Amino acid sequence: MKTLLKYTVVVIVSQLFQQCSFSQNNPSKNNSPTMDTTKKNNPVYSNIDTSKVTLTEEEWKKILPSDVFYIARQKGTERPGTSKFEYFKEIGTYYCAACGNALFKSDTKFESGCGWPSFYEPISKGSIIYTPDNTHGMQRTEVQCGRCKGHLGHVFDDGPPPTGLRYCINGVVLDFEKAKEAEKNYKEKPGQ
Ligand SMILES: [Zn+2]
Repeated sequence: MKTLLKYTVVVIVSQLFQQCSFSQNNPSKNNSPTMDTTKKNNPVYSNIDTSKVTLTEEEWKKILPSDVFYIARQKGTERPGTSKFEYFKEIGTYYCAACGNALFKSDTKFESGCGWPSFYEPISKGSIIYTPDNTHGMQRTEVQCGRCKGHLGHVFDDGPPPTGLRYCINGVVLDFEKAKEAEKNYKEKPGQ
């Protein structure tokens, strides 16, 4: 009798468990990873493709969110202190929000107090283009994305060691991906 009771309990418990795991698994089938709406209409966006992107301003306007278009294509500047990335400390990689080009690693980020996300070194030599900028009565060096030539910000020579440089970047034109997620995506798309 005791054995039968034990058996019944085991059967009920295991059925409960099955139902439980079923109801947990079921919704995930319909739950595809959340798509980032900023890239839905952007055919040139890629974290892996390094080929240069040349589009007309009209074409950029169609595929970029207005705030990214204003900074990347019209050389705008976001208001200081408004970027979520200014005091952001997660470990990972920063990409160009217009084309997906890798720009900076989080370990070269520092808090400069200037009001914009700041880095002391780009991820690679080719990731950034430097252009003299003499507008607004100042002599500055503009930094642009090495892949799409989108405006990112400026570089100054008052940064910390080892480079002594301060890349002062508009957070609007940065995308961030956590280290593990970046690695996973890379493995999933090895051929691209
Ligand atoms: Zn870019």
